[in-house]
Amino acid sequence: MANERGFIELPFVAEAHESVASRITHFNEFIATLSDDEAKQQASRCMDCGIPFCQHRCPLHNDMPDFNRMVAQGRWAEAYEALIATNDFPEITGRICPALCQESCCLGLYQDKEVGIKSIERKIIEYAYANGLVKTLPSHHDTGKKVAIVGSGPAALACALSLNRLGVKVCVYEKMDKIGGLLRYGIPDFKLSKEVLDRKIKQMMSDGVEFKTSTLVLASHDTAPTLEPGIHSDHRTVVSLNELKAQYDAVVLAVGSETPRDLKLPGRELEGIHFALDFLIAQNKENQGQALNPIEVKGKTVVVIGGGETASDCIGVAKRKGAAQVIQLDYHEELPSTVDVREVWPNARHIKHTSTSQEEGCTRLFATNTTSFVAKKDSPGAKPQVGSVTTVQVKWGPKRKITPIKGTESIIDADVVLIAMGYQHPSQQAFAQSHLNQDERGNFAAATQGAAAFHSSDPKVFVAGDCRKGQSLVVYALAEGRACAQSVYQHLMALPCQRSA
Ligand SMILES: Cc1cc2nc3c(=O)[nH]c(=O)nc-3n(C[C@H](O)[C@H](O)[C@H](O)COP(=O)(O)OP(=O)(O)OC[C@H]3O[C@@H](n4cnc5c(N)ncnc54)[C@H](O)[C@@H]3O)c2cc1C
Ligand code: SF4
Repeated sequence: MANERGFIELPFVAEAHESVASRITHFNEFIATLSDDEAKQQASRCMDCGIPFCQHRCPLHNDMPDFNRMVAQGRWAEAYEALIATNDFPEITGRICPALCQESCCLGLYQDKEVGIKSIERKIIEYAYANGLVKTLPSHHDTGKKVAIVGSGPAALACALSLNRLGVKVCVYEKMDKIGGLLRYGIPDFKLSKEVLDRKIKQMMSDGVEFKTSTLVLASHDTAPTLEPGIHSDHRTVVSLNELKAQYDAVVLAVGSETPRDLKLPGRELEGIHFALDFLIAQNKENQGQALNPIEVKGKTVVVIGGGETASDCIGVAKRKGAAQVIQLDYHEELPSTVDVREVWPNARHIKHTSTSQEEGCTRLFATNTTSFVAKKDSPGAKPQVGSVTTVQVKWGPKRKITPIKGTESIIDADVVLIAMGYQHPSQQAFAQSHLNQDERGNFAAATQGAAAFHSSDPKVFVAGDCRKGQSLVVYALAEGRACAQSVYQHLMALPCQRSA
């Protein structure tokens, strides 16, 4: 413990946020990294708990007590080593992780504010880059094995880095034109700058990881390369899973859970109704100098349907694109804004959260179910345009049953509707013919413990991340990618060495 009275005497240090009025004029990150002194103060509040609940709750089991102590004492290089021992991507988690660790921090029980672990993580990695502590980490030996990883989101990247370090040659195949999965195409630049992502990928390339973009992997060449509505691909090349299995010692599928949940209601065919990722991906591309986002929201009323991160991201992007107003429809009931921490700690706090995007200005309607989309009366053009959505208030009952409340029907104007209702499973079109076992939700089935961890029903194919777990969080994808690499390595080490090229 660096400072025995730190948790009593030192206040929580918040990262500075650019004002709403200023940040909605651009797409850059708007949260500042702590200064050296601020980070030391924040880390000095850590009590170095004998049972660190923060570490237990973190899916990566980051060693918070140790790196907090090192930061508090200004031992930055050691703090960096302690952090990357469990988390290869602190520049990502330090920006966009919901920080489950902080909810479980014991200091939250005593003070209103726990230790700001996430801001310390971000500071450590930014300090490390700025001070030349981040070094190329090529593997020191060659196992003679090679692995193909399909997908390049956090699960794939974590798996690739771990295998590369273990002396396995890794090639990552990605159908989009750039690497990163949802970190690149999905999560807006103001939450995660793509320069931060590029810096990491460059580092991984110098470590020895190979990347092939615009390459769609399908179960077989008999599969049509047309994916389901709402799933994007920039592929110029198609490779079959069987080809990869023939070329590599193992294949890891880390293809995410890309099939969006749709709202098949009357009027769904109207112009102006889009899946959230159609909007978000197009904006990521526009921001990196490609074609302009074809979904125009300037001066319009945008209705976002859904209550999660994707919906929030749509709000933030719509605000920056000059939407006249943004209305969010969430069919969940409104949660209380506070809870007695002592009653729920160290578990999740089920309270109403307000994201930075929601803070930027939107009307949030809770317990509101959409019932239809209605065309604009004076809608010119070949296809009628959406003009409003009809809704009804709902009551939640046991077993998540929702009942409409009579007399609460309403009509809400809408020029653009964004459907952000989550994701179901990986593309069935791409992988149906792979005959890999699936769970009841349509994700690839695999255990997470034991000798068969992350092993699909095909002896050469492993699965990790959202395509196995279902839509989740970056930190879980990183943890799965890392653990999957261990499983692949153990499997490979049981095979005879035979790589020739
Ligand atoms: C809009 C949005 C915002 C989010 N915000 C947050 C957040 O703030 N914090 C957080 O923790 N989580 C957030 N999440 C969730 C998080 O992004 C995901 O849980 C995480 O990215 C899953 O990682 P993954 O590697 O399993 O898959 P993904 O990141 O989905 O990556 C899968 C990759 O596989 C590629 N692929 C798919 N099929 C093929 C194929 N056949 N051939 C080749 N390549 C293929 C895809 O193109 C994609 O690049 C968000 C999700 C969304 C949609
Ligand atoms: S629970 Fe909080 S105070 Fe305790 S070790 Fe973790 S970060 Fe420090």
